[in-house]
Amino acid sequence: MSCLFCKIIDGSIPSTAVYQDEQCYAFADLHPQAPVHVLVVPREHIASLADSVELDRALLGHLLWAAAEIARAKGLGKGYRAVVNTGEDGGQTVEHLHLHLLGGRAMTWPPG
Ligand code: AMP
Ligand code: ZN
Repeated sequence: MSCLFCKIIDGSIPSTAVYQDEQCYAFADLHPQAPVHVLVVPREHIASLADSVELDRALLGHLLWAAAEIARAKGLGKGYRAVVNTGEDGGQTVEHLHLHLLGGRAMTWPPG
């Protein structure tokens, strides 16, 4: 398996773990864009949100729930942003579905 995030999940590429359970793994982004920048990824390889199917519905909800749990644990009471870059126009660079949790500073809108 050549997928970067699959290698991070199986431990063959190091990462800084933030949260994990049977369905997902969360770790610090290597190039943080905010004081808190965590990636939440499903253990199952799904290339992108656009590749998710009906069977993935509960898993997709679980990723959002995990992000909220991490935000609570990190004390992001003022708010945060959860982002899923998808495909070329969405700015996705790693083809394993992941949710960015960004917090610790005020975010701007619209995103670039
Ligand atoms: P995206 O552009 O939405 O596909 O996000 C990919 C993210 O993965 C970027 O924010 C990168 O900084 C991050 N990233 C790439 N390689 C690593 C790595 N080895 N460990 C942690 N984060 C990484
Ligand atoms: Zn993968």
